[in-house]
Amino acid sequence: MAKRMIETNLTEEDVKIEGSLRPQVLEDYIGQSKVKQTLKIYIEAARQRGDALDHVLFYGPPGLGKTTLASIIANEMGVHLKVTSGPAIEKPGELAAILNNLEEGDLLFVDEIHRLSRQVEEVLYPAMEDYCIDVMIGKGPTARSVRLDLPRFTLVGATTRVGLLTAPLRDRFGMIHHLEFYSVQELKLIIQHSAKVLGVEIDEKGSAELARRSRGTPRLANRILKRVRDFAQVRYDGKITEAVAREALDLMDVDKLGLDHMDRSILNTMIEKFQGGPVGLDTLAAAIGEDAGTIEDVVEPYLLKNGLINRTPRGRVVTECAYRHLGLEENVL
Ligand code: ADP
Repeated sequence: MAKRMIETNLTEEDVKIEGSLRPQVLEDYIGQSKVKQTLKIYIEAARQRGDALDHVLFYGPPGLGKTTLASIIANEMGVHLKVTSGPAIEKPGELAAILNNLEEGDLLFVDEIHRLSRQVEEVLYPAMEDYCIDVMIGKGPTARSVRLDLPRFTLVGATTRVGLLTAPLRDRFGMIHHLEFYSVQELKLIIQHSAKVLGVEIDEKGSAELARRSRGTPRLANRILKRVRDFAQVRYDGKITEAVAREALDLMDVDKLGLDHMDRSILNTMIEKFQGGPVGLDTLAAAIGEDAGTIEDVVEPYLLKNGLINRTPRGRVVTECAYRHLGLEENVL
């Protein structure tokens, strides 16, 4: 399948720009007000007690600000941030070494935490609960287990697939937060802020148009802003207006709701091959040649949120709203 403009996972290009666009403190973090309020209270309480913050789990589709929140928490707590990810830790010993190198209060961020192997995950249980790890010394019959104390630290886990987390791991988080898609108004603020940082001229209507077509996702909003800026610079005088934004986004094949060819291909496949559903996730995934997990975690949440599809016990169904959006009349089909 062709590369998506609205690929929400991190790309190399994002790494270059995201550093400068990432808010550093809770105050500057736009949206997710419930999460922010809770974190603010817990951070303040932990600071007053001089204690480490409770372990936190963030889940939700990619690009919604999980990593950003982890670095904000470290800033607000005035502690070091260590970053790693589930697939990067292959052996229990590697995780033990990471934990053993933490200092009092440090924050360990584990992205894609659902991808930790079972053996590695087991190291985390006593570490999270009692701040200690059991290390095996020696081999064979003389091997023995030694308990090592760890500094009090905070684990911040992020996942797009909370359903894949084991119960023992999930239960060890003191706070579990679901990150929601951003409203158009929130995305507009993010776009205006990013435009300022990047030195891009954009008017009200231009930023509203980009916000509407950013799929509720700040990472996409920033990426789209950069692409449209290039377009405005080459084709026009550099300023992003509504008309310039529209033309550029049409060219990028991102439609009025922020849907791209992958979203539309899912909807069209459901309509053409399965009469609008119900169709099971695996059947649908096979029909469009995409991984079922990707559909479920990355593509589908936005379609569900916008009422373009519904989930029923018998599978996914296309809604009337989707037919209308695609310019099809349901009763004609
Ligand atoms: P995730 O870890 O959920 O994939 P990130 O935290 O890496 O997402 O966020 C992607 C980018 O989006 C960040 O670099 C930041 O520039 C921007 N971003 C995310 N959330 C916000 C927010 N609430 N306010 C402003 N910018 C944000």
